[in-house]
Amino acid sequence: MPQSAEKVLDHKPLFQEPEYQEMFKAKKEQFECPHPDDKVQQIADWTKSWDYREKNLAREALVVNPAKACQPLGAVFAAAGFEETLSFVHGSQGCVAYYRSHLARHFKEASSAVSSSMTEDAAVFGGMNNMIDGLATAASLYKPKMIAVSTTCMAEVIGDDLQAFIANAKDKGSVDAEFPVPFAHTPAFVGSHTTGYDNMMKGILTYFWNKGTRVAGEKLNVIPGFDGYAVANNRELKRMLGLMGVEYTLLSDVSDVYDMPADGTFNMYAGGTTIEDTAAALNAKATLSLQQYCTEKTLEYAAEKGQAVKALNYPMGVKGTDAFLMAVKELTGKDVPDALLLERGRLVDAIADSMNYLHGKKFAIYGDPDFTLGMAQFLLEVGAEPTHILATNGGKAWEKAVKELLASSPFGEGCQVWAGKDLWHLRSILATEPTDFLIGNSYGKYLERDLGIPLIRLTFPIFDRHHHHRFPTFGYQGGLRVLVTILDKIMDQLDVETNIPGKTDISFDLTR
Ligand code: SF4
Repeated sequence: MPQSAEKVLDHKPLFQEPEYQEMFKAKKEQFECPHPDDKVQQIADWTKSWDYREKNLAREALVVNPAKACQPLGAVFAAAGFEETLSFVHGSQGCVAYYRSHLARHFKEASSAVSSSMTEDAAVFGGMNNMIDGLATAASLYKPKMIAVSTTCMAEVIGDDLQAFIANAKDKGSVDAEFPVPFAHTPAFVGSHTTGYDNMMKGILTYFWNKGTRVAGEKLNVIPGFDGYAVANNRELKRMLGLMGVEYTLLSDVSDVYDMPADGTFNMYAGGTTIEDTAAALNAKATLSLQQYCTEKTLEYAAEKGQAVKALNYPMGVKGTDAFLMAVKELTGKDVPDALLLERGRLVDAIADSMNYLHGKKFAIYGDPDFTLGMAQFLLEVGAEPTHILATNGGKAWEKAVKELLASSPFGEGCQVWAGKDLWHLRSILATEPTDFLIGNSYGKYLERDLGIPLIRLTFPIFDRHHHHRFPTFGYQGGLRVLVTILDKIMDQLDVETNIPGKTDISFDLTR
């Protein structure tokens, strides 16, 4: 084999070595029984036709490559934003490995969560014993201040009752009666990670808020929502709120736990909203959500408790940040300081400087409901044309909201909105009605390769590029980052298209 201690090859060159190439060829001939290459090509071409698109879009009983994750992943993310909190997922172990690896691969940071590791016997007789043993083990091994319990499909299918199980576990002494164990049922066969985020956020607040009596105060609760850029975005939110002089509680702040320094020690927990602040957040004057579709149940609950509530849709760019600052001003009475107005002016100036490259460019966007709304609004304000907007976890209300946004600008004319569709649908849509660029997560890479539409990575998960989440997309500063990310791809593409001397080498921002 070509690999040796003297010659260590990465997998990219390794699999090109003759030994591997011969092995792949033999495997194909002996075991794969493939169809002839021309037949495979013929079918591949047909899958890009209008005929196939119609059949594909009529598909109802099957989802292929959905642009969403399952509920417990969102619950694990929400719980990670509370101080020294360990996620305990009741159900099968493999599911929890998936949440941990998904979050770790995106944030390039360890992501802790434990599982009750239900197996066949628990699936038949219920997972009560797994809960009793699991809570005791998790508490003694990892010494959290709070254990947040969610569920996988397996526990939900057999109908395990978390409230009763946790009460029983406490009776049996797994953890102290006063030890906080909030929970949320997160059946993964409905909703998505955004629903799971909402359920866990409500579960944690319910645990603390139902114990207290509200004494209305002046503080503001801010809920960021499920966000792959939360490390930098939460810090940007705190900076802007600090500049405004607002007293606030950021409910679920993952910015430190998913961005730990390398200092020679392993810390399982870092930062996060403290338990004291979470309990005291009941007394806030208002709760502001930055992502409506991540917090519908939570905001309803906050309103029931007597708080004013307001929801935004992933505030990016000039209008998005304006809406955020105006909402904070409306809810707290605090003015927007000159420092933020200056940042606003700089972003507007940057957009104006680059308008000619953005104007009229067509984009397809896919991702979570709030992200796609925020992204579409940003494209409209820079003069670009959102052309297809897709959210696998978007419903009728999201579709209506997107259409209203599109109707507010001439650049939104003709844009098609795809609620509940997946990335295999998007392949058909883009093969028949292509755009200039595609905005989404790392899973768009294969659409980029297959259809030749350049991909701009701007939402969770991003596995095949590093450290994007360390730079904000929220606020005017974040708007600059989003603008530059889009412009870089446009100009990279322009460079590719203008590199034949004497033929396509038109003047492009380089003069003698
Ligand atoms: S969809 Fe169900 S089985 Fe799959 S990872 Fe999520 S909880 Fe586990």
